[in-house]
Amino acid sequence: MLTKVAERIYQKVVPLPNNPLREINSYILLGEGSEKSLVIDTGFNRPECEEALQDAFDTLGIVDVDLFITHLHSDHCGLVPQFSTKESKIYASEVDGELINFEVGNLYWRILDDLFIKFGFPKARFGRNTDIHPGRKYCHEKRVDFTYVDEGTILSYGGYAWEVILTPGHTPGHACLYNRKHKILICGDHILGTITPNICIELGVENPLADYLQSLDKIAKLEVDLLLTAHGTPISNMYARIEELQQHHKERLEEVIYILKNEWKTSYMVARDMTWEIDCKSWEDFPEPQKWFATGEAISHLQYLYFTGKIIREERNGIYYYKNN
Ligand SMILES: [Zn+2]
Repeated sequence: MLTKVAERIYQKVVPLPNNPLREINSYILLGEGSEKSLVIDTGFNRPECEEALQDAFDTLGIVDVDLFITHLHSDHCGLVPQFSTKESKIYASEVDGELINFEVGNLYWRILDDLFIKFGFPKARFGRNTDIHPGRKYCHEKRVDFTYVDEGTILSYGGYAWEVILTPGHTPGHACLYNRKHKILICGDHILGTITPNICIELGVENPLADYLQSLDKIAKLEVDLLLTAHGTPISNMYARIEELQQHHKERLEEVIYILKNEWKTSYMVARDMTWEIDCKSWEDFPEPQKWFATGEAISHLQYLYFTGKIIREERNGIYYYKNN
C-alpha cells in the first residue's frame, strides 16, 4: 500500500513476512523535477521487501534516491545496498552507522551473543551463525559508505527542511527527522502506536532505558501534529502516547522489583517471570526470537534499576545476577 500522508510525503507499507511486526513503513520524500527523493528505512534484505519498495518507486517514477536510516535494525537498513547507487547519499547517525557496518560478518553477532550469555541467556541455545537473532538472517551483506548526520543537521528533501533529532534508547544512535514549520516528525521506532518499542542492550550501552526515557522527554518538548512511525498507522496524539510509554516502563520497573523479591536472578530468569502479551501458554513455548526480545527488555529494566541503586548486581562465573537492595 502506498499512501500520500502529506504534500510530497508518501508512506509505503513494506511486508515483513513471518515476522511478528508484519510490516514496516518506508517513507518517501518525493523530489520535485531533478531533485532527488529521500527514502527513510527500507525493510529486510529479502525479495518481498525489495519488490514492495521497487513497486513504490515505479509508481512514483523514482529512479535514483538518497536514503536515511533511522537505526541499525535489519528491518530498517537491510536493503540499503540494493537501493543505493554511487551517487546516493546514505544518511545515518555515526553511532548506528558504525554498528550497521559492524553487523556485516560474524563478529558483531558473536559479541552480541556473548553479551546475552552474560545476562543469563542459556549458552546452549546459541549455535554460532544460527538465526536466533531475528535481524541476523535478513541483514544487509555489504558495508555502507554513510554520510553521518548529527543533532541539528538539516536535510532538504521534498520541499521541506528536515532537522535531525537524535533519540538514543531503542538503539544507541537512533535518529528522527523533524520539520518544525509543518510540525511533522518521522520517528522510526522511537515511538510506536500499537506496540511498545523494544528497549534492549546493545554493544557499548549500559543503561538503554535511561537513554530512552530521556529521549521521550526530549521529543515531548517538540510541537508535533503529524507523527510518522516505522510500524503501524500514524499517531494523532503523540503526547498521550508518550505518557502511555512512560507509564508502561514505570509499571515494568515495579514488576521487575516484585519478581526479584529477595532472590538472585539473571535477566533471563526475570524475563521468564514477567507478563507478556503473546499467544503462548508458557515461557517454554515462546519462539526463540521472542525469548531474546523478552530477555532484552528484562536487561534494560534491570540495568536501569541497578544504576539508580534500587537493586544490586553480582557477577558469578561471568554471568550477572540481580537482587533487591
Ligand atoms: Zn527497531
